[in-house]
Amino acid sequence: MASNDTPTIEVMRAHHERITRMLADPECVGELLLIGVALARHIDFNDPPATVEGSAPIKVIAEQVYGRKSVPDMLIGVGTLHDRGDSRPLRRLLDVFRLDRRRYVPEDTDRWGSVTCGRPMVRREGVCGRPASPSHIRQVTDPVSGGRQWLGACSQRACREWLADVCARNGAEGEVAPRPAANAGGVLERHLPEVDWWAVWERLDPLWSPPPEGRPFERPRLRLLSGVAEAGGVPVSVPVAGVRPSLTVLAGGWR
Ligand SMILES: [Zn+2]
Repeated sequence: MASNDTPTIEVMRAHHERITRMLADPECVGELLLIGVALARHIDFNDPPATVEGSAPIKVIAEQVYGRKSVPDMLIGVGTLHDRGDSRPLRRLLDVFRLDRRRYVPEDTDRWGSVTCGRPMVRREGVCGRPASPSHIRQVTDPVSGGRQWLGACSQRACREWLADVCARNGAEGEVAPRPAANAGGVLERHLPEVDWWAVWERLDPLWSPPPEGRPFERPRLRLLSGVAEAGGVPVSVPVAGVRPSLTVLAGGWR
């Protein structure tokens, strides 16, 4: 629809339902939510209007979300606590897209302190269960799912030998294990299936490749990035004022 059209009731209802689903998604928070709402407005209302057919004006959207000032590098609700973003609005938006790429993430090393000895007991049910010794914690591959997890042994000799044996066998199993399904990211993808996210992720992470579980949705029709120069400077278009509720950046707080 043209950007200066009054949205129909059907369009307004579809938009409302989309935003409601985003708000109900526990992973769609912080900057992901802000950017998701802004992109939804572009998709549903063509606001801000597309400057090129089928291509979203992401620089304008970035400034709608962040304003034109620099942004603190701490990312809110995106990635891990260690992830930082650029201070410039457009680059920041791209950082959020990159951190939301659908991918497999192995268990965090933060869990090391809680790994216990996994050797199965011979005369009773269960495993040894003593705290694993830091030098006897290994990452093993599930031969069925391809997922990786931490396995540890305590300092007892039998437990150490058990772990060495498991790791020796797992080396061969791991080589033929399938690529694990993604377990992180893809939040914006599930709420904004109109966007060709795979093209975005390939652009922002040269090592990214389509996950084995494939595309969850029908063929996307909207591009967010089309040229190499775009990340540096997308043509600015002026958002139109109309009957739609406007998206306003409020100065204050940590901004
Ligand atoms: Zn043990």
